[in-house]
Amino acid sequence: MKPRWVLAAFLVLLAAAPAVLPEFTITLLNYIGLYALVALGLVLLTGVGGLTSFGQAAFVGLGAYTSAVLTTGSGLPAWLAWLGGSTWFTLVAGLVVTLVFALAIGVMTLRLSGHYLPLGTIAWGISLYFVFGNLELLGGFTGITSVPPISIFGHEIVSGREMFYLIWLFLLAAVLTTQNLLDSREGRAIRALKGGRVMAESMGVNTAGSRMAIFVLAALQASVSGWLYVHMQRFINPTPFSINMGIEYLFMAVVGGAAEVWGALLGAGVITVSKQWLQDVLPQLIGQAGNFETVVFGIAMVIVLQRARDGLWPVLTRWVPLARGARAIDAGAQALGRRARAAAGETLLEVERATMRFGGLVAVHEMALEVKAGEIVALIGPNGAGKSTTFNIISGVLAPTEGSVRFRGTLVAGKSSREIAALGMSRTFQHVKLLSQMSVLDNVAIGAHARENPGLVRGVLTGAARLERGDERRLLAEAARQIERVGLADHMHDAAGSLPLGKQRVLEIARALAADPCLLLLDEPAAGLRYLEKRALAELLEQLKSEGMAVLLVEHDMDFVMGLVDRVYVMDFGQKIAEGLPEDVQRDPRVLEAYLGGVE
Ligand code: ADP
Ligand code: MG
Repeated sequence: MKPRWVLAAFLVLLAAAPAVLPEFTITLLNYIGLYALVALGLVLLTGVGGLTSFGQAAFVGLGAYTSAVLTTGSGLPAWLAWLGGSTWFTLVAGLVVTLVFALAIGVMTLRLSGHYLPLGTIAWGISLYFVFGNLELLGGFTGITSVPPISIFGHEIVSGREMFYLIWLFLLAAVLTTQNLLDSREGRAIRALKGGRVMAESMGVNTAGSRMAIFVLAALQASVSGWLYVHMQRFINPTPFSINMGIEYLFMAVVGGAAEVWGALLGAGVITVSKQWLQDVLPQLIGQAGNFETVVFGIAMVIVLQRARDGLWPVLTRWVPLARGARAIDAGAQALGRRARAAAGETLLEVERATMRFGGLVAVHEMALEVKAGEIVALIGPNGAGKSTTFNIISGVLAPTEGSVRFRGTLVAGKSSREIAALGMSRTFQHVKLLSQMSVLDNVAIGAHARENPGLVRGVLTGAARLERGDERRLLAEAARQIERVGLADHMHDAAGSLPLGKQRVLEIARALAADPCLLLLDEPAAGLRYLEKRALAELLEQLKSEGMAVLLVEHDMDFVMGLVDRVYVMDFGQKIAEGLPEDVQRDPRVLEAYLGGVE
């Protein structure tokens, strides 16, 4: 059975549910839908993007309170009062309020890293809860009553069964758009946020922008849930928006399967139903009332997280055929535009007196080098000589303490690696930086992220609305071409992490090529490669050179370097100790001293 049939069956069951299920179950399903909408935002934010938030309940509250105040408020100024005339106006108002808050909170907290970010979300989660509770306008801790129901063309949605359709329609729309987004160019960038930010920036991804985008999207989804909630309940107080609820939303996302959109639904369902069930069953079992369900629930959560680290969704897909197949490649897709080639012999890269200090350690001292179009240049030297640091300075991962780096005539020292990548410099890493769960195809496609990019906001909107299919097809076709070019075609759809190290290095080269660079920086590309693979790599580099590409590579393997490169720079203890033709450098006494007397 195909996933689409499972989905169809699920939709039929949903549509039929109100006709056959008792009122109580419908109410439960309504809550599951509302919770799942918030958990879905967390899938995007936490599961996929790696930003843990305990504060989502506060955004639910923003949507709910905005709508409650506007629809019930008396004495509102005239420019606001008209909004209360329709619950649909107040939905939009709630989204706007949430957007403003999310942007402001995002600016303040998203720069935090590690455990400071979750702590930050707890802080504003608690603050907003007390704002809800203490503002007189919002009814304080007693709240606001007689909130009107949602009305559609004059028809008021009062029954639980009608509400059911509304809630689940919103939820399914959100699942669909989130899934679309994740399958798009911006989605791939979002999936790279977790554990690949340095790499993603080097490939031209605006990681700060992507983080903000998913933060705002998650907040907006929570806000819609709040709007639906308040018009279903018809009253509001701060309790459902406390940090406890924020923790519970996070549980739902994590237990469901934090990196999968449908996991949000599963998590919300499992947690809501099991809590309800424990509440009913435990008092009978134990024979006394109390909050035992919370205790049992806590223990159950720990066990689930121990047993199924990736949540329950992956467990479910083992039994039900829900996993999605490999992505199709359309070889006939229109090729992406290419950058203007550099003239043969044009000086592309000029490094002058570059110095990098880490505290007291001078990792690179007054380093100078130059690379021209159509040249392969090697940077060699013993371990710890400062080669990788030099690479990081050139590619913008590090800003040099002193000195200048010029790329195609532009001063780039101090610019971000994203800006430098946009100018046509692309790199690989000594310690491979791949998204190991993602396919080889998707990994390489990240390299092409910045090409013909419509911009973050448009990328997110068109991605969610599925309007960029053509664009995505062209990106994947380009990635596939580069994968074939480096000889990895057999592994196109394998998880990148499943490849042997040598092939992972080659994958990084394909990813760098997907950016259509005119200068390629390769940090130890031949390390871990077998003899034949090295030969194939050398052939590829010569091919690139003949096309006018400039290549700067760091390498240990002398034999590999000597037969291949035009010029060599030798570093030791952060300084340039020799430069010139390979055969001359090889005979230089200082080089021999560094290599033989060094730590090799
Ligand atoms: P190579 O690539 O030539 O082996 P590196 O450039 O990686 O050498 O390192 C040069 C020196 O700088 C080493 O002594 C290393 O320990 C130090 N170093 C590199 N990166 C950092 C860093 N981020 N912080 C502190 N020291 C560093
Ligand atoms: Mg190194």
